[in-house]
Amino acid sequence: MKKILWGELRRTEFEELAKANAVVIIPVGSTEQHGNHLPINTDANCCFVIAQRAAQAIDEFPVLVLPTIWTGYSPHHMAYPGAITLKYHTFVELLTQVAASVHAHGFEKILFLNGHGGNSPAVASMRTKVAAEEGVSSVGYNYMNLPSVPEQLMKMGVKDGHAGDMETSLQLFLQPELVDMEAAAWVQGVHGDPSNATREKGESIVNVVVSALIKLLRDYHSGKLEDDLSRLSWLPELLSYASRGLR
Ligand SMILES: [Zn+2]
Repeated sequence: MKKILWGELRRTEFEELAKANAVVIIPVGSTEQHGNHLPINTDANCCFVIAQRAAQAIDEFPVLVLPTIWTGYSPHHMAYPGAITLKYHTFVELLTQVAASVHAHGFEKILFLNGHGGNSPAVASMRTKVAAEEGVSSVGYNYMNLPSVPEQLMKMGVKDGHAGDMETSLQLFLQPELVDMEAAAWVQGVHGDPSNATREKGESIVNVVVSALIKLLRDYHSGKLEDDLSRLSWLPELLSYASRGLR
């Protein structure tokens, strides 16, 4: 199997990968309660495994997967044991510096693959900030919201929701030894019903999400997908207004 993990590369291997215009995936997870039945690393695990499977499946150009950002923005989970959260600005700054570091080594295609809904607003605003202020372009998606995924999940009858049907099925497939299905019921902090989750459903969800990610990576690499810098075409105009004192 080819090497796809950033952390397993030697320093002599990066230059060639940057020249080949590798896409770099930054998996963004969280560490927080997922009901009484799932491990607290659920979000970090899901986005990391999905990123690796997609990266491994693409042969036309290199795709690299950074170590997962294992902690995110989860203040709303701190009432439950085990949650580890960053403050909002710390989280945004952490992602900014990681993206800027990747970019400093010559990589121009950066994809944030988020696994935690609570991170979404921060990741979106951070990407605009990094593009405008650091000239670092990126794209960003929640794995469960990759193009076509919500529609396909709906067709499969899978419901999204924190520690519900989708995440429980995924964990039954990805880390079954860490799931306690006897405790899979609605409790406070769970959205939806985890009791119908199955390993088979989890495998189908992984296939759907990984296929969507493979397509997105190809579109991104080929230039078909807009990134932040191209969406920020209005920025020079705005800056010139600002410099002339016009508001
Ligand atoms: Zn989750």
